[in-house]
Amino acid sequence: MIPYKSEPLTDFTIEANRQAYLEALKKVESELGQDYPLIIGGERVTTEQKITSYNPANKTEVVGTVSKANQELAEKAMQVADSTFNTWKKVDPVVRAEVLFKAAAIVRRRKYELCAWLTKEAGKPWAQADGDIAEGIDFLEYYGRQMLAIKDGHPLNENPGQINKYSYIPLGVGVVISPWNFPFAIMAGTTIAAAVTGNTVLLKPASTTPVIAYKFMEILEEAGMPAGVVNYIPGSGAEVGDYLVDHPRTRFISFTGSRDVGLRINQRASVLNEGQIWIKRVIAEMGGKDTIVVDDDADLELAAQSIVTSAFGFSGQKCSACSRAVIVGDQAYETVLNRVVELTNELIVGDPSNEDTFVGPVNDAGAFKKISEYIEIGKGEGRLVAGGNYDDSKGYFIHPTVFSEVDPQARIMQEEIFGPVLGLTKAKDFDEAIDIANNTVYGLTGAVISNNRFHLEKAREDFHVGNLYFNRGCTAATVGYQPFGGFNMSGTDSKAGGPDYLQLHMQAKTVSETL
Ligand code: NAP
Repeated sequence: MIPYKSEPLTDFTIEANRQAYLEALKKVESELGQDYPLIIGGERVTTEQKITSYNPANKTEVVGTVSKANQELAEKAMQVADSTFNTWKKVDPVVRAEVLFKAAAIVRRRKYELCAWLTKEAGKPWAQADGDIAEGIDFLEYYGRQMLAIKDGHPLNENPGQINKYSYIPLGVGVVISPWNFPFAIMAGTTIAAAVTGNTVLLKPASTTPVIAYKFMEILEEAGMPAGVVNYIPGSGAEVGDYLVDHPRTRFISFTGSRDVGLRINQRASVLNEGQIWIKRVIAEMGGKDTIVVDDDADLELAAQSIVTSAFGFSGQKCSACSRAVIVGDQAYETVLNRVVELTNELIVGDPSNEDTFVGPVNDAGAFKKISEYIEIGKGEGRLVAGGNYDDSKGYFIHPTVFSEVDPQARIMQEEIFGPVLGLTKAKDFDEAIDIANNTVYGLTGAVISNNRFHLEKAREDFHVGNLYFNRGCTAATVGYQPFGGFNMSGTDSKAGGPDYLQLHMQAKTVSETL
């Protein structure tokens, strides 16, 4: 088996690649508006109630309608997953991993088409969609290999006349609840990590991006995933989500999303329900308020570029997005501020179907309202130096917005906005900059731009985030290279794409034989 290597990103300066994307957009446009069923035990189930998925760049364009699970169908899916577990857990881990490798090959072959679906359903500009699909391929390739690496457990100490074995066995039925911002990579990664380890899955994708999840279900089927291992049950988080989190047969919940929903799930999962014989495990990856610290001796051009890319890539709708920059010293502050404003004003805002667009729409009406309200709050908390305007007449467009001279305790510096809004603040020295960087309830990502080795070492120790980067931006973790997950209110630090991730979906069993 060739060693794992991350999937290369597409070079859109190559004409053939550009053409392939344009062709894929045409193909997807011709397939918009179709109706998709639930998939329970391989069976297609169509309901009267539907979720309608819209293009956020063109809010009247229907990407697709999807059947909507209710509690009754969630119960049916639970029963199927529960009984399928008895057979799937006994399937050789090598065979389970092979399903993932085959799925990776199919995704690779259908890359442009899947990217085009992301452009339409999630408003992802070309490079962002490409990154999302590449990350999905990485999860398939990496977790497949990780399963092979851990399938025989760990060696143990043994006394004469004794054989000791330590192996990992699956947990049971997992409820996978995924967000809309990486509607392919996170949805696929959390689903297949649970499945390759021998568990069965109830997949509830985010309600604004259910179509791309259906496409992935088809890919899993084509790759040979047996019916009933992964069940596709889109539905309301509040209705289906609560029901399944509470269910006594739910063994674990793998959630990625906001802090409030993550905390709610954690709390509900801790309640013992009738018939339940285990403590439910919760894997929860939640929000962030991520900071880039710029030292006074740093490469200030690198700093400005890193801040702008990390703040406004995918309209700031990444849990890892830079929403705060702390700059040490007056001179560095002025230089970085001016350059950030210049670079921000150069960004092209518009329909993500156009290849030049850097900032597409935000997710939906709810996101548009929340972010525009924060922009108005920001106007009272700092000096507006770029953007500040928003328009939802056609799609949900918000111009990348920068506030300077913002108090580190201001609301826009403390609360997760999850949109293209950046606050800048000044620190008198590096120690103060790190104190500011640590002053939120979150602890997901952060970056330090500095040429001072002692400052970098201080940050290594004291900057309390799950993913810390030196001399680059704070987004774009790569599977297998920068395992991803955060501290404090950013979640349980599961480190997706890392060497310990699969074990979170398993339990270790010790067997000791006396000869
Ligand atoms: P969200 O509103 O929390 O939703 C996430 C998922 O939870 C959706 O599938 C949602 O379903 C579901 N849900 C809602 N209420 C529920 C309930 N009561 N019980 C069970 N499930 C429920 O988050 P989002 O807006 O989709 O995503 C953005 C958030 O995710 C941000 O805070 C971001 O920082 C975070 N995020 C974190 C990471 C990470 O790795 N740390 C990665 C990506 C995103 P509906 O869509 O039906 O409401």
